[in-house]
Amino acid sequence: MLNDCLFCAIPAGEIPSDKVYEDEYVFAFRDINPQAPVHILVVPKVHISCAQEIDENNSIYVAKCFEAIAKIAKAEGLDNGYRIVNNCGADGGQSVMHLHFHLIGGKKFPETII
Ligand code: AMP
Ligand code: ZN
Repeated sequence: MLNDCLFCAIPAGEIPSDKVYEDEYVFAFRDINPQAPVHILVVPKVHISCAQEIDENNSIYVAKCFEAIAKIAKAEGLDNGYRIVNNCGADGGQSVMHLHFHLIGGKKFPETII
């Protein structure tokens, strides 16, 4: 597996996934343990370990993730809104150390974050 990183291996096709979207910069697939009716992970196609590692050299990938999220949300029919979550580092609850955004929807979330 490339760098031993799960979210490098999935876009590379080394590990199967339920793909919903792909372009030059971004790969998106359904979370294996969904927390809502729609739960999709959107990952950059370069290894960025976490949000803390975003800088001027790689931020195009982050912008492309958010462009993809808007397209995926429309395709999934999330017309009434959705939530985007990023867990960063140990205290943030990040378990896979490759930057990813959770696109979750299909239900109404409370106004509180946690
Ligand atoms: P985080 O805790 O923010 O790092 O999120 C990691 C997410 O990856 C969790 O929601 C897991 O359910 C999900 N996950 C782990 N392995 C896989 C996999 N092979 N395919 C799809 N989702 C996965
Ligand atoms: Zn990676």
